Amino acid sequence: MELNSSSCIVLYPSPGIGHLVSMVELGKLILCHHPESFSKIIILITNAPHLDTRATAPYMSSVSATTPSITFHHLPTPPLPPNYAPSVIGLDFELIGLNNPNVRQALETISSTQFKINAFIIDFFCDAAFKVSSALGIPTYYFFTTAASNLSALLYFPTLHQKVTVNLKDYNDFVHYPGVPPIFSTDNAITVLDRSTMEYKFFMRTAVQMAKADGIIINTFHSLEPRAITALSDGLCIPDGPTPPIYCIGPLITGEQVASEEHECLVWLNSQPSKSVIYLCFGSLGVFGEEQLKEIAVGLENSKHRFLWVVKNLPSKQDIDPITMLPQGFLERTKGRGLVVKSWVPQVAVLNHNSVGGFVTHCGWNSILEGVCAGVPMIGWPLYAEQRTNRVIMVEELKVGLGVVESGGERFVSSNELEKRVRELMDSDNGKRVRNRVVELRDAAKAAMGDEDGSSRITLAKLITKWKE
Ligand code: UDP
Repeated sequence: MELNSSSCIVLYPSPGIGHLVSMVELGKLILCHHPESFSKIIILITNAPHLDTRATAPYMSSVSATTPSITFHHLPTPPLPPNYAPSVIGLDFELIGLNNPNVRQALETISSTQFKINAFIIDFFCDAAFKVSSALGIPTYYFFTTAASNLSALLYFPTLHQKVTVNLKDYNDFVHYPGVPPIFSTDNAITVLDRSTMEYKFFMRTAVQMAKADGIIINTFHSLEPRAITALSDGLCIPDGPTPPIYCIGPLITGEQVASEEHECLVWLNSQPSKSVIYLCFGSLGVFGEEQLKEIAVGLENSKHRFLWVVKNLPSKQDIDPITMLPQGFLERTKGRGLVVKSWVPQVAVLNHNSVGGFVTHCGWNSILEGVCAGVPMIGWPLYAEQRTNRVIMVEELKVGLGVVESGGERFVSSNELEKRVRELMDSDNGKRVRNRVVELRDAAKAAMGDEDGSSRITLAKLITKWKE
């Protein structure tokens, strides 16, 4: 394909800030290291109020201000059927499907009036758009926002569907994916547990379609997940057909938090001793009911450790201040050694603050990567999506964290359990082992992305060459 100054790449992220950030970083990486090849990145944005954390708009403004070569193209909002109430993931898939005419129009307009589209990169949740770009003859790549281990599971999913004929939620055994530690059936991604759901069908279709793409880009790096990446590249995850080329270009984590230096939690962290604070944050959507909130507070208080705890509110209780649900006197008793923050903190800046010594995470893949890049050991407490699998990967494969043990049918974590894990991470030899390992991987992450001969930079260069052919 001939290149000129009007060549561009179009990115199509799924709604939700956790999906947007890594795609934007991919765009910035292309512009930074290959400006002679591509001077324009266009990002198609789907309006999805159900996932709006109020962090998305300021984030996009900041990107537009610092990187004008990235343009956000807002797609019209597709009308959903009335009284339609699937899960958050089901709604995502549905919205993306309804968006297809808008995506087609955007791609046609871009290529007829402005730029030649050398590659269209779609989030794996935006699978529906593959049909559109294929029909237009645009080279299409999937972008996988989570671990290579999860990609192994997803591409192997049609094979697993034939092998295990009951619902995974009732299987009660370990599932074996190429290059991945055994995953207990109910620790699999929520979307694949029940064959009767629309989410299961969407995932199956995605797995089949992805195999036909021009390539799959994963937000990971080789020395983080060598076994899964090798299994994917060796074609073990699609036993009955070819595997598309796999490109590991990570870790892609946000660099847009410089302006947040004065956030109250960073000011507070400045007054804490080095590596003394345990930071608790459960992603963009992680929330707890009153009973669990109280239990966390008791666990933190009894651990005697310093903490920074981000508390978000249940969507059904937006009018209630979650702070009022904490045990009586908790804030006074922990004053000075603990800070509770409502809503949103600049997580990357927090993790990189010298006072932070541990991270209790919901195991979102961005959060795990951010913990690794900051060299902060973790405690995994998964809540939704594929986070239970991520906990296994983090604890057993990467060995950069400990997992909480839940009790009760409702996956409750007791105050004793939280206290025990915090002490284990901060005070024990086991905690030291995890700490040393995460520092090792932090350095490997820097090398993969920072050096010209780093694995992720070499992979990106190969991809750029392919796009220029
Ligand atoms: N995040 C943040 N502040 C918060 C909560 C989340 O900056 O208070 C960021 C976090 O750094 C990460 C993203 O939001 O980049 C969440 O992505 P992740 O994959 O960890 O979880 P998700 O929210 O998608 O479940």
